[in-house]
Amino acid sequence: MSFAGEVKRELLNVENAACCEQSRARGLLLFGREFSARRISILTENSSVAEAFANAAHLFSGSTPEIERSGSGNYKIAIEDKSAADAIMSEVISFGNDAKKQLSIGVIERECCKAAFVRGAFLAAGTVTNPETEYHLEFSCPTRSVANELMELILGLGVETKLTNRSGKSIVYIKKSGAIEDMLTIMGATETSMMLMGAKMYKDVRNTVNRRMNFENANAVRSVDAAIKQYEAIALIEKKQGLDSLPKELKKTAEMRLTNPEASTGEILRMLGDGLSLSGLNHRFKKLITIAGEIKKNDGKH
Ligand SMILES: [Zn+2]
Repeated sequence: MSFAGEVKRELLNVENAACCEQSRARGLLLFGREFSARRISILTENSSVAEAFANAAHLFSGSTPEIERSGSGNYKIAIEDKSAADAIMSEVISFGNDAKKQLSIGVIERECCKAAFVRGAFLAAGTVTNPETEYHLEFSCPTRSVANELMELILGLGVETKLTNRSGKSIVYIKKSGAIEDMLTIMGATETSMMLMGAKMYKDVRNTVNRRMNFENANAVRSVDAAIKQYEAIALIEKKQGLDSLPKELKKTAEMRLTNPEASTGEILRMLGDGLSLSGLNHRFKKLITIAGEIKKNDGKH
């Protein structure tokens, strides 16, 4: 089952309070494939969503529409009976006997019912990408005005959401991982939301570990480079003029490096153990490298 399918399965199991039942039904019906006086329909690959849609239609029209199987294996419901469609339209689009039709979304009062409406809308027209690949949750809306109202509603629930157009469809979408978690939690997919948070935490930890390892590697490489440079310089001094030519401290340092070519500067410091600071030791190595550089320069003159 797809990630979106898992989310829908969890949402279908959410118990709807009596006040929320109608709200969820409105979301389901309004966000189907078509919503007009001529036809109210849905096309879905999810049989449980089709059943929920049929039950929602029954709630407002008193009759249960037939669920058909399309050629591609999807589930299809089309309500074309005029009295049934009218009954549903009046419940979903307009309230009371206001001649000016008003969408139902704006008049949902309770928070629980708002969440139930979004849950219904998501079941009918929502999808969410597996967070392992990308963060994206969206609702494909029947009209621009419905999209605007849905966006308002979701913003009102405190979730950051945006609106776009894709091949003539208005899409309300959520991109940020935190906002997707919030939306899933509000709709009632708490298990999935928790899983998502876990996945993100895992990603964060992994990134931190990677960063740290790269940092340590870089340090290790730097310290090996330095050791090689020191060793080569000292070996050259020894070969050309002998270590006895060096002042006492430099000689001691040079001998320590020659006998411990793989030791880090810090380890050399500990082995010397005469109260020298790391910068003091680095200063000595710098001097040795300068001496070697001069030897090389003079060699070139001959
Ligand atoms: Zn409610």
